[in-house]
Order: sequence, then C-alpha cells, then structure tokens
Amino acid sequence: MIDWLIEHSPLPWAVSATNSRGRQYAEPPAPMRSPFQRDRDRIIHSTAFRRLEYKTQVFVNHEGDLYRTRLTHSLEVSQIGRSIARSLRLNEDLTETICLAHDLGHTPFGHAGQDALNACMREYGGFEHNLQSLRVVDELEEKYADFPGLNLTFEAREGIIKHCSTRNARELGELGLRFLERRQPSLEAQIANIADEIAYNNHDVDDGLRSGLITIDKIRDVPLFRDHNDTVCNQYPNLQDRRQIHETVRRMIAEVVTDVINESRRRIEHADPENIEDIRAQKGLLIDFSDPVRERHLYLKSFLRENLYRHHEVLQMTAKARGIIRALFEAFFTDAGLLPPEYMQRSTSIDSTLPEQLRARVVADYIAGMTDRYAISVHARLFDPHVSV
Ligand code: MG
Repeated sequence: MIDWLIEHSPLPWAVSATNSRGRQYAEPPAPMRSPFQRDRDRIIHSTAFRRLEYKTQVFVNHEGDLYRTRLTHSLEVSQIGRSIARSLRLNEDLTETICLAHDLGHTPFGHAGQDALNACMREYGGFEHNLQSLRVVDELEEKYADFPGLNLTFEAREGIIKHCSTRNARELGELGLRFLERRQPSLEAQIANIADEIAYNNHDVDDGLRSGLITIDKIRDVPLFRDHNDTVCNQYPNLQDRRQIHETVRRMIAEVVTDVINESRRRIEHADPENIEDIRAQKGLLIDFSDPVRERHLYLKSFLRENLYRHHEVLQMTAKARGIIRALFEAFFTDAGLLPPEYMQRSTSIDSTLPEQLRARVVADYIAGMTDRYAISVHARLFDPHVSV
C-alpha cells in the first residue's frame, strides 16, 4: 500500500535525473537546474514556442483576441499537467516540459492545416504533427553551438511522440521501440497526453460559447456541462452569462482532473510498480479517467465535433485554410527558387537518392513553421496581384 500523504519526495517510478536515459549529445549537468527544468527552459526560449502565439486551435488567429491560441492552450495544458503530476508525486518539471512542447510541430490553421499538409506529403512520407514536434526539438531549432536542435532528454522526446505509425516507429530507433513492443511511456508523458485532452475539450466550450457558434441552451444537452451549470445557476441565480460560463467550465475541469488523479492513483496502487521499468511494461495506461467520467468527457467531445468543429462557419474557415496550405506547397515544391534562401539551400544541397522526398520535407518544414497570419501573407504575396512582393 502506497502512503500518498506521508511521503513527499517523488516516487521511485517517477522519472528522475537518476533514472533518465540522458541526452543525445552529452552535456555537463547544469549547476542550479535539473535536466528537466533545463529542457523546459530551452523550450520556452525556442523560436517554435514563440510562434505558437499566432497559431490556431479552432479559430483563426485574427478572428478575435480572446480565443485560445496554441500558446495559451499549451500553458493551460501545462497547468493541468503540473497539478496532476504534483498530486501523484511524479516529476512535475518533466510533465511541464512535455506539455509545453507537445504542439510545437503544429501547422498553421489547426487540424485543417495538418490534414492538408499530410495530403500534400502523401507520396513523400506524410506529415504528422507529433513527429514534426520531434523534428523541431531534434533538428530544426538552431540555437546552440554544440548540437543541432535543443538536445532534450530522452524522456522529454519520448513524451512528445504521443502516437505514431509502425512505419515511422521503425525509423525512430530507441524512441520508436515502445510502439513496436507495445510498451508504455513514462507516467509524466501519460499525464501530458490526458491534460491536453482535458484542456482543449473544456476551453473549446468557452471559446465556442464566446463565438456564438454554440449556445448555453444547446450545450446543456451535455451532462458534464449541465450538471455543473445547474449547480452554478442554483447557487448564483443572477450571475451574468460570462461568469456563469466560466464558473461552469472551471467546475468541469475540476471534476475531470480530480477523477484522473483518483483513478490513476487507484491503478498505480493496483499495479504496485517498483521502478520506471515496471511502468513501461504495463499493458495499459495507468493515467486515465474512470469509466463513468470518460463517458461524460467523450459525450462532450462528440458534442463539440458535431456542433463546433463541423459548424458551417468553422468549415468555411478550414476550407480556406486547406486551400492556402495546398497552394503554398504546390508553389514551393514546384519551384524551390521561391523559398527563402536558407530553405532553398537545404532543398538543393541535399545529396540523396531521394531528392524529391527531401525537397518535399524542406517545404513541409517551412510551411509547418508558419503562423496563421504569415501563411496568409505569403499566400497573398504569391497569388494576389494587388499585393506587392
Ligand atoms: Mg494540444
């Protein structure tokens, strides 16, 4: 039996500097920071992290200043992740690192952008945002004299790859092994994954209501919303809508986060691990919702899919976004001379038996790194005769 309350130091199955598999390029330890605090700081100072400010979740960045962007989403994910990690006495710094890094590889225009780029890349190895996040931290960030990328710890990189195809797993070496052997990532990585899901489902309720694309009346079909909304309305009958919505959403988040902590604690006790290898060898996830709360959460998720993500105004925006991504890919892939010099050099200096694949990858890297507004302005520069180059 684990005594959760008496012990305060991280548990032996938490990732720590002692059981870490370390970095790709050996570095002397930092005197004042753990390896995972250092990982987190490198992410915060990266260019890709700053760009998240102008990348979309659901709404295009210029639609309003109050909607979530990938940056504020990542901060919310890390807040939820840290709370869960701390309650379960796991490595809070590593959890924060993975949460902050999890969306670094996202294209402009959210999932519409990723789907469009994936379609463009179909014959050239495809495009997957998890793998792109790993490319960002492993290769694309150019910050340090001694190594390419950010040289993060194995555990941070492992957490960034949430899922991947068997074909890609084979190319990932040590990082891909767990997908082939059906093993689990660290509990910290599992937390980041579920924190992402909790964050976007709940903040999309807030953004969806703010935009007017969904109404309070309609979303009261969702038990997770309705139950908390009833409590709030009974307790505060005269509350204005905005405060009523926020008060409801915060209680929804509290319900699911508390449930994840309790359910995960129960599963860990049942699994009775001794070390991190026992965690990796588990058949299923140890960090999860209980069955009834998963059902409540899934109901919310399918409501959002039907009523927000497939709302005609959102679909009109995503259709336009798809068109922009396709046109940019086509233009840069056909004529590498249109690429900025540093990308053009990479696409032409590559000595390979597969030059087309590599050229396509350079174009995908360039497009994936764009913010929403940058993609729109490059598109206008290339295709709108009234916009000067
Ligand atoms: Mg996310």
